[in-house]
Amino acid sequence: MSTFRAVRIDKADKGVTAAFVDFDEAELMDGDVDVAITHTTVNYKDGLNVTGKAPIARRFPMIPGIDFAGVVERSTAPAFKPGDGVLLTGYGVGEGHLGGFAQKARVKSDWLVPLPQDLSPAEAMAIGTAGFTAMLSVLALERFGMNPDMGPVVVTGAAGGVGSIAIALLHKAGWRVIASTGRPQEADYLKALGADEIIDRAELSSPGKPLAKPRWAAGVDTVGSHTLANVLAAIQPHGAVAACGNAQGLDLPGSVAPFILRGVALLGVDSVQCPMPLRLSAWRRLADDLDRGKLASLTTHAPFERVLDVARDIVEGKVRGRVVIDVA
Ligand code: NDP
Repeated sequence: MSTFRAVRIDKADKGVTAAFVDFDEAELMDGDVDVAITHTTVNYKDGLNVTGKAPIARRFPMIPGIDFAGVVERSTAPAFKPGDGVLLTGYGVGEGHLGGFAQKARVKSDWLVPLPQDLSPAEAMAIGTAGFTAMLSVLALERFGMNPDMGPVVVTGAAGGVGSIAIALLHKAGWRVIASTGRPQEADYLKALGADEIIDRAELSSPGKPLAKPRWAAGVDTVGSHTLANVLAAIQPHGAVAACGNAQGLDLPGSVAPFILRGVALLGVDSVQCPMPLRLSAWRRLADDLDRGKLASLTTHAPFERVLDVARDIVEGKVRGRVVIDVA
C-alpha cells in the first residue's frame, strides 16, 4: 500500500474530526494529473472546514485545503508534463474533491494554473485564494470603469488575507486606500502595505441608515452583513463595491436606496468557479503588480504539522495577512 501524509476530516456525532493520517493513494479521487504538493496555505474557508463551524466538506473522508502549489508527478493531459510547476485554487478542491493539506493531490488538468515563471510556489501560496480574490475584486472595479481619480476606496476586513493583498494592489494601482479594521494595533502594518487612512470597523458594523454621507468612490468588502450595507450607503454616486466576503455574516441588511438614488453598483466576486481566461489574467497581473517585499511582509510561514492550529486561529480572527504552509 502506498500512502502520503494528509489531514483527514471525518464526520463525527457533533460536527467533524480533523487529524493527520497516512492516506492511502488508492483512495484518491479521479483526475488526469498527480501533483507532489510543496506548499499550501490556510484560507478562512479552511478554518471553517476543519473546525466544522460551517458545513464546507461535501463528502467524507475529505482532505481539506482549497489551495496548493507543487510539481506535476504524473499526467495524461497534453497541457502538463512531469516536472511542471502548477498551482490550484478553488473548483471545490478541499470541499467536494480531496484537497491541498496533503503531500499529494490527484486533480483534473482543467483546474490547474501553470505556475507563473516569476512566482515561486511559496509566493503563489502567500497569494492563494485570498490574494486571487483580492485581484478579482480590483479587476471587477476596473471592469466597471472605476479609477483612482474618482476618489478613495475603502477596504473592509483590512488586516485579513484578502484585505491585506487588496490594499497592496489598490495602492499600486494609484488609489487612496482607506482600511477598515478591528485591530488598530495593526495600523503600521496596514500603512506599510499602502493604506492612507485607518478607520475602526465599529463605524460600519452596526445597523445604519439607508443612505449616509458619501465618503468613498469604491469599496472592496470582505465582511458582508451590516458592514457591506453601510459601505454601500456611503459610496459616492455612480461608484461601485466589489463584494467578496462574509466575515461578519452572509446577510445584507440594507436597502435599495444606494442603487436607485445614487446608481451605486454591487459587483459580486467568486473565486471558486472563476472562468480560466479571467483566472489566468488575474494570476498574470498578480505576478506583475504585487510588490514582493509587501507580499513577504504580510506572509508568515508554518510547517505542515501546524496547519490545523493555523486553521483554528483564522476563524478566531487571530491570523494577520497570509500563512504559507511548507509541505515538502
Ligand atoms: P481572514 O480571516 O484572513 O480575514 C477576515 C477579516 O475580516 C479579519 O481579519 C477581520 O479583519 C475581519 N472580520 C472578522 N470577523 C469580523 C466581524 N465579525 N465583523 C467585522 N469584521 C470582521 O479571511 P480572508 O481574508 O481569507 O477572507 C475574508 C472573507 O472573504 C471571508 O469571509 C472568506 O470566506 C471570503 N472569501 C471569499 C472568496 C470568494 O470567492 N468570494 C474567496 C476568499 C475568501 P480586521 O481584523 O482587519 O477587522
